[in-house]
Amino acid sequence: MGVLQALLVKTLPRVPRRIVARVASRYVAGAEVIAALTTAQRLSDEGATTTLALLGEEVADRAAASEATAAYLQLLTELKQRALPCNVSVKLTHIGLDIDRDFCIENLTRLGAHAQSLGGFVRLDMEDHTRTDVTLDAYRTVQQRHPVFGVVLQAMLRRTLDDIAALPEGTNVRLCKGIYREPEEIAFVRHSEVRQKFVEALEALFDRQCFVGIASHDRWVVERARALITARKLTARDYEFQMLLGVLPKMRQRLLEEGHAVRVYIPYGEDWYAYSMRRLRENPTVALHVIRAFLTPWR
Ligand SMILES: Cc1cc2nc3c(=O)[nH]c(=O)nc-3n(C[C@H](O)[C@H](O)[C@H](O)COP(=O)(O)OP(=O)(O)OC[C@H]3O[C@@H](n4cnc5c(N)ncnc54)[C@H](O)[C@@H]3O)c2cc1C
Repeated sequence: MGVLQALLVKTLPRVPRRIVARVASRYVAGAEVIAALTTAQRLSDEGATTTLALLGEEVADRAAASEATAAYLQLLTELKQRALPCNVSVKLTHIGLDIDRDFCIENLTRLGAHAQSLGGFVRLDMEDHTRTDVTLDAYRTVQQRHPVFGVVLQAMLRRTLDDIAALPEGTNVRLCKGIYREPEEIAFVRHSEVRQKFVEALEALFDRQCFVGIASHDRWVVERARALITARKLTARDYEFQMLLGVLPKMRQRLLEEGHAVRVYIPYGEDWYAYSMRRLRENPTVALHVIRAFLTPWR
């Protein structure tokens, strides 16, 4: 991270909200569900599938967790009605994990039952390492009740190859590097190491006949993934690339043109400010967009 970027990340809390809003508009569809659905339709017209994620996490209030669950139930219905090639992604702490595990599982089961009745799919986003076990356990529980779920594994965690070995063959897995700052005892922290581990995990997942959402914008990782796909003669039944809304659209276009399936993760919701601050803090590249927003005349 350059000196300027490091400084910017440090002073983020003092960045005016309107500047963050300007940067966020590229990475977040909007505050309302209709903005997310419109973005999903646009991307579908471009040939991509999508995942909608209502922003929110670490909810401490039961009513708020129930509200989030209800919003997801409604969203699943909307997606079906609009026949969009789109699924949903949920953070367990958004639907009550930090309040009561059983309550969270209940909410998740409701989502699973509804998704199953509509032919939908629900991905469990992965949060920091303190939630890895409980998320994987929740996945096993609800997947047995309603087989419409997928999980996320983080290549940076030292445990990930063991987690892959313990998952049932054919599990639907999104593989990403991991966005949280984790202690070195449990995580690889060097960029080159995380990359290498990503490719190892990807191979292990393919060995176990898992469907893999290859969630990375890292050209090095994407090149290796493409080589593996070719060498193993994999098809759209085995994998898709996954990218975040607003990140490297040219790469997305190129992958689509080459015939790969690409899914775009679309965050939306009132909680855009907290989400954007996290993105800004965690990815110095995003911080550069803040500098640009400062320098570009306000429209
Ligand atoms: C679809 C999807 C779902 C994800 N779900 C989870 C999850 O459930 N749990 C979790 O811990 N992490 C999740 N992540 C985040 C992931 O773990 C990484 O932190 C993130 O993707 C950055 O890693 P990278 O592999 O893209 O490589 P990097 O080396 O970090 O990035 C490569 C290049 O991509 C661009 N880039 C990457 N990220 C951003 C960004 N946010 N904004 C602007 N430009 C960017 C930059 O140009 C950068 O140089 C998800 C990522 C994606 C794509």
